[in-house]
Amino acid sequence: MSTIAENIAKVRARIREAAQAFGRESAEIGLLAVSKTKPAPAIREAFAAGIADFGENYLQEALAKQDLLQDLPLHWHFIGPIQSNKTRALAERFDWVHAVDRLKIAERLSAQRPDHLPPLQVCLQVNVSGEASKSGCAPEELPALAAAVARLPRVRLRGLMAIPEPTDDPAEQRAAFARLRQLRDDLGMDLDTLSMGMSHDLEAAIAEGATWVRIGTALFGARDYGTLPDTTPHS
Ligand SMILES: *Cc1c(COP(=O)(O)O)cnc(C)c1O
Repeated sequence: MSTIAENIAKVRARIREAAQAFGRESAEIGLLAVSKTKPAPAIREAFAAGIADFGENYLQEALAKQDLLQDLPLHWHFIGPIQSNKTRALAERFDWVHAVDRLKIAERLSAQRPDHLPPLQVCLQVNVSGEASKSGCAPEELPALAAAVARLPRVRLRGLMAIPEPTDDPAEQRAAFARLRQLRDDLGMDLDTLSMGMSHDLEAAIAEGATWVRIGTALFGARDYGTLPDTTPHS
């Protein structure tokens, strides 16, 4: 089994090679380490190997790990679906929220963001896979949502995020990511962020302009949802 540091080196090499192949600068592609279900020591190991940005999906699990890792200068990203009764903790304890898909959530995040912190960085999640996927706002709803979120004082709209239906076909992977990029460009709002690409499709995402790739399995190994008490998807 390879270590987390070895996995990070491999993923960084994939990012570099994809950037080179598709005429991108690898410096403009952030590696977001998705640490859901993985214990705090795994995050320490990744930090020691140069990663500072971590993505979590389950609030209670994330808060517990943040408490254990307070001594490290980490940036925390919430990438899971958002329930409105969880927005206060997100506003208080995270730097980024990637999967905002309705105005009510963004309004609550803005209202609840503490004054001593910089604005919360947010992306809007868009459903680029049609009926096959339930999460994310519909592309037709995006312009109005983006305009309204951009007006909120305590969140900063950075860009768009998508989780396309999984497919092994690189052309289909690229088509979904290209849709997200086109939607971002069509907004004409000077948004610098495309959060797209996971362990199996980061190359296709980089080809289409990803600025955050969200990588779990390729860094930390397969997830075992049975090992942690607080990883229920609704928490
Ligand atoms: C779990 C998760 C990831 C990481 O997926 P891997 O296939 O393990 O790299 C990325 N993004 C989101 C939103 C996730 O929930």
